[in-house]
Amino acid sequence: MFATEFEYTKANSVSEAIQLLGSNDGAKILAGGHSLLPMMKLRLARPPMVIDIGGIEEMRGISVENGTLRIGALTTHADIAESHVVKDASGILWETAYGIGDPQVRNRGTIGGNIAHADPASDLPTVLTVMDAVFTIQGQGGITRRGSRNVSADEFFTGPFETVLGENEILTAIEMPVLAANQHAEYAKMAHPATSFAVVGAGVVVTVDNGVCTGARVAVGGLTPKPTRGPSVEAALNGIELTADNIAAATALIDGDLGSDILGDVFASGEYRRAMAAIELKHAIFHATGLAHHN
Ligand SMILES: Cc1cc2nc3c(=O)[nH]c(=O)nc-3n(C[C@H](O)[C@H](O)[C@H](O)COP(=O)(O)OP(=O)(O)OC[C@H]3O[C@@H](n4cnc5c(N)ncnc54)[C@H](O)[C@@H]3O)c2cc1C
Repeated sequence: MFATEFEYTKANSVSEAIQLLGSNDGAKILAGGHSLLPMMKLRLARPPMVIDIGGIEEMRGISVENGTLRIGALTTHADIAESHVVKDASGILWETAYGIGDPQVRNRGTIGGNIAHADPASDLPTVLTVMDAVFTIQGQGGITRRGSRNVSADEFFTGPFETVLGENEILTAIEMPVLAANQHAEYAKMAHPATSFAVVGAGVVVTVDNGVCTGARVAVGGLTPKPTRGPSVEAALNGIELTADNIAAATALIDGDLGSDILGDVFASGEYRRAMAAIELKHAIFHATGLAHHN
């Protein structure tokens, strides 16, 4: 199917893109186009105007400053997967970017587009939630009248394909703490064989001192409408030695944190995904701590 007719325009700066959004009702931002264009072709989205932000250099790039990794929203998955800065600062993000889709998707798709689209099956919402990332959002006047604001990943995602982004706002950058030497992070997913999208994905960051877990953040995605933190698992991991048995007992508690709204489809039922959540979480901690090589 072809998309409905639309006007195409290019923005050369963030402020121009915001101004164009504000003066054209229903207009949509085009970043890598790997989610927007399929939606338009299926006529699930019918924007009268598409604003191409692909040429805005100020929205690209990767840097580390004062213990914070900063990535411009237009940075592609391939740029992240090839970056030694990301590899050193956040190995979990580096590996996850490499596991997204295929080379075409990674070469065009952007971190900002992935987050703004908020597909429950996307990998980055789960990983950025577990990494305690903060998103910079810019807007001016129009409906939001908020200027620039920072929103944590925990607050940003509100449901399937839903975020706190206002109509005239643009996501410009993503920031997250650089992992400390005693922090170990990993993302494990059961990937859909056709697309690599997460059927169930699990992210963990564990802090380990003298063999004991002194802090944990865990989140799962793919099976819930938005990334879901696991407070019961986090509490159970805290203060224990990370042995295989202890990890298995703690990760089993994720079931109680999932709630009742579990996604399912012809590929994998909700019941099956629910059962897989603890398994992917266990794999993630095994890999993060090196236990995977011994079990
Ligand atoms: C075959 C295939 C396989 C894929 N596999 C995976 C996978 O394994 N894992 C995974 O995580 N993802 C996967 N994806 C999705 C991919 O990562 C997309 O790149 C991503 O979802 C959207 O990024 P984009 O830059 O292409 O955004 P676009 O398609 O350009 O935009 C998506 C939406 O976000 C909005 N938007 C874009 N940028 C901004 C911004 N800066 N501020 C505000 N709004 C913005 C747009 O208006 C639009 O509504 C796959 C996609 C395809 C087609």
